[in-house]
Amino acid sequence: MDKFLRRKDSSSRTDDEEPSTSVTKNLKKVVKRKYDEDYIKYGFSWCGDETAPRPQCIICGYQLSNESMVPSKLKRHLYSSQPSCANKDKQYFKRCSDQNKKQKKFMKSAVTVSEKALEASYHVAKLIARQKKPHTVDETLIKPACMEIVRLMLGPNEVKEVNKVSLSADTVKRRIHDMSSDILETLIKKLLLEFLMEAENLRLTERKLHSTRF
Ligand SMILES: [Zn+2]
Repeated sequence: MDKFLRRKDSSSRTDDEEPSTSVTKNLKKVVKRKYDEDYIKYGFSWCGDETAPRPQCIICGYQLSNESMVPSKLKRHLYSSQPSCANKDKQYFKRCSDQNKKQKKFMKSAVTVSEKALEASYHVAKLIARQKKPHTVDETLIKPACMEIVRLMLGPNEVKEVNKVSLSADTVKRRIHDMSSDILETLIKKLLLEFLMEAENLRLTERKLHSTRF
């Protein structure tokens, strides 16, 4: 009987404990600091998750934890890491922040455009090689035709993007050379591997024959 009572006791105790622990867990979760627009005066914007933003220094880019989203800690970073900016006003930090955003946007678009242009250049070179057309066909026909189509269908700004694809005869020649040496290298590796495997098989068969003979 005692055993049952004890069990009941202990189970009721855990029942009581469980909600209390989940409450503390919930309380911990609730303490997520939000970014205040006023924090820009300490030289901070924010980054990461909107529900738990991390303070990010506008000047050096350093990121603090969400827990550090309090004036005292932001101020401490400003005074210790950028003392020369400590007396700057909100407007100064706002201008720096806008500048950072512009720079980031520019870098992102520059990288994606150049990567895409490079990829396009390889694709066109492959088409030319497959069709066994002279390397100059790109410069004299393909690129002007593409630009004309894009200009009529999309507009003048898009033409500028297409123009970034390098399609001179020299480039096409270089791309085809790159691709053919890559293919050649793969082919040589494959043939070499096959040859080595064949040699190994021959060696094993020879050894077997030798052992049966003696
Ligand atoms: Zn900083």
